[in-house]
Amino acid sequence: MFLLISKQEIIERAIELGFEDIGFTTADPFTSQIEILNSRKEEYAWAFKSLNLMEGIDPKRIMPPAKSIIVLIASYFKKSFPKSLESYFGRCYLDDDRITKDGISREVKKFRIFLRDNGIDSKFPAHMPHRLAAARAGLGTFGKNCLFYSRKAVRQGSWTLPIPLIIDQEFEPDEDTSSIGCPDWCRNACIIACPTGALKSPRKLDPRKCISYLTYFGEDLTPKELREPMGLWVYGCDHCQNVCPRNKPWLVEELPLNERVVAMEEDFELSRILHMDRNYYRKTIWPHMFYMGLGDMWRWKMNVARVMGNTRDPKFVPDLIKAFNENDDLRVRCMISWALGRIGGDQAKNALKTFLKNSEGQLRQEILEALGQIL
Ligand code: SF4
Ligand code: SF4
Repeated sequence: MFLLISKQEIIERAIELGFEDIGFTTADPFTSQIEILNSRKEEYAWAFKSLNLMEGIDPKRIMPPAKSIIVLIASYFKKSFPKSLESYFGRCYLDDDRITKDGISREVKKFRIFLRDNGIDSKFPAHMPHRLAAARAGLGTFGKNCLFYSRKAVRQGSWTLPIPLIIDQEFEPDEDTSSIGCPDWCRNACIIACPTGALKSPRKLDPRKCISYLTYFGEDLTPKELREPMGLWVYGCDHCQNVCPRNKPWLVEELPLNERVVAMEEDFELSRILHMDRNYYRKTIWPHMFYMGLGDMWRWKMNVARVMGNTRDPKFVPDLIKAFNENDDLRVRCMISWALGRIGGDQAKNALKTFLKNSEGQLRQEILEALGQIL
């Protein structure tokens, strides 16, 4: 079939729209994933519930006339983030416009309109293994931490989003670069540094142990043995990327501040989240970080209480006391008690003694243990 546009013209348009890189691959199925998904059904049961992962492996099941896949590389870390946010929230969530549609999504839309205007139909498959697609399109390699490292963007680091688009026209595929690109001298720094042991071995992650997963999907009260290792992460975790030597060249760059994210700084203050009501959550927090449903406000508050405890900063004690009194969720109250015990001091101790008078069962036990920590 006669093509209206060349591969080179598509590449030029992608770069013009601000994408960092672009690659092409075939619409063949990602067969290596079949075995992986079959052998890891238990670990990924939560993802199977909402996504048809098996369908995502085969582009032709998603879009029957599929002929090629274009992969765009965008970076969410072209500008820097305030310390008050990147210390607690994974960077990729801080400028995530999948709901607000006022950032990268808008450029993807423009790119798809450009394809359409040139006779190419496209489909964005949310459930396709996007990192595999990027590597098969020659755009970079994998890290042992399971992340994708770009061949070009962010000094060849991992702070990127591969965006696959299935298209109904055939273009010459780029050379596959699927391999682990870690230097031999790095002795698995990411695996050793992972606080919860989620990285079991090179490219093997148990998502149920990953702090990112636990912050937004963890069921019930966070178990005691995870509260300290989960540290200061409220939503997401960047630890295995922060310790990676492949990311250091970009981490030392002096970048201009991301003003869109700076504008969120006050709204995402820990104490505001701890005291937020449903309306605040729906309007202010959820449009940016939406993995938790509107009924999951308790998990946000529990996470913030844990983080406050792990800061060991007495300035949070009045907030925690106030939140205990305004919350009747057992999970939040238990975590507040733990946090007060971890921070310690007279004010925390006296508050815990007061809480003890009207408590029973699991909460009473948490309060007694928190008091035990202080005493
Ligand atoms: S994101 Fe955090 S918890 Fe998850 S594997 Fe990396 S270091 Fe471990
Ligand atoms: S920390 Fe080392 S092993 Fe892990 S992804 Fe980075 S280079 Fe690879």
